[in-house]
Amino acid sequence: MVLLPDNTSSDIIDLHAHTTESDGTLSPAELVELAVTTGLSALAVTDHDTFSGFEQALPVAKAAGLELVRGIELNSRLILETGEVRYAHLLAYFPIEDPSSEFTAWLGAERKERRDRNRKLAENLQERGIQVDLSEVEARGKSLAGRTHFAQVLVEKGYARTFDDAFNRFIGENAPAYVERQSPITQESIRLVRSGGGIPVIAHPVRLSLPRETEREILSGLRTAGLLGLEVYHSDHPPELQAHYRQLAEELDLLPTGGSDFHGAVKPDIRLGTGYHGNIRVPLEFLRAMRSFVTAKMSRV
Ligand SMILES: [Zn+2]
Ligand SMILES: [Zn+2]
Repeated sequence: MVLLPDNTSSDIIDLHAHTTESDGTLSPAELVELAVTTGLSALAVTDHDTFSGFEQALPVAKAAGLELVRGIELNSRLILETGEVRYAHLLAYFPIEDPSSEFTAWLGAERKERRDRNRKLAENLQERGIQVDLSEVEARGKSLAGRTHFAQVLVEKGYARTFDDAFNRFIGENAPAYVERQSPITQESIRLVRSGGGIPVIAHPVRLSLPRETEREILSGLRTAGLLGLEVYHSDHPPELQAHYRQLAEELDLLPTGGSDFHGAVKPDIRLGTGYHGNIRVPLEFLRAMRSFVTAKMSRV
């Protein structure tokens, strides 16, 4: 059976969108304008690793009367029982209160560490006579600049034939210029978000490629570690998967969330508010439930 979103009113929201502050192509102000012309009732800005898109969008949204939610998307490593590693994206929402200063300080330190790693990687390459500049890499990767962007530059400049070649010969784990840097494990990211006052949510669970037999067990384990939500509606989730994740969220007592994962011109098929060819419709109730959760928790303290 296909469960349809339980919202038939005009209150459509989008809880997952990127700006030029991470890897999107619309500026924060342009994203707000688009949300307004699309007729959204609320929008969460969820750039990778930074709140600066949200912060720039906030005055514009206030002036336009659009409800804006503070969010962020973090990368983490999910280590399976088999030892395999999956890169789990964690969305964190702060629908009522701002994040703690410890959390923003941690974010700042993470960004600095990533930049230091990239600088060192560029230096290692330069020492080997490979002219790759950090600015070229950062122009491609923005706040997410990492080894894939180094690989792009190496291929474009003719130092490597393919991505694999770039990794094998220069920047892969066993290659000479490699510099170690790893995202925190998912449980640790969840803990950091919770202690920072946020709602941690597993983004686009389909991309974890977990077999159905272990998916529930793994999500249930993450819930024990403090996970509070599951992204049920997402442009990558066809209707049957939306129904599946909606049910799983309900069974595991996780807050259902949803959003298009809008990036602008780099993913032209994905529209703000409606996703991939209109496959999502996120009800305002999801945001209300998040707020009630936070309010109930605050009143208990
Ligand atoms: Zn993601
Ligand atoms: Zn995203």
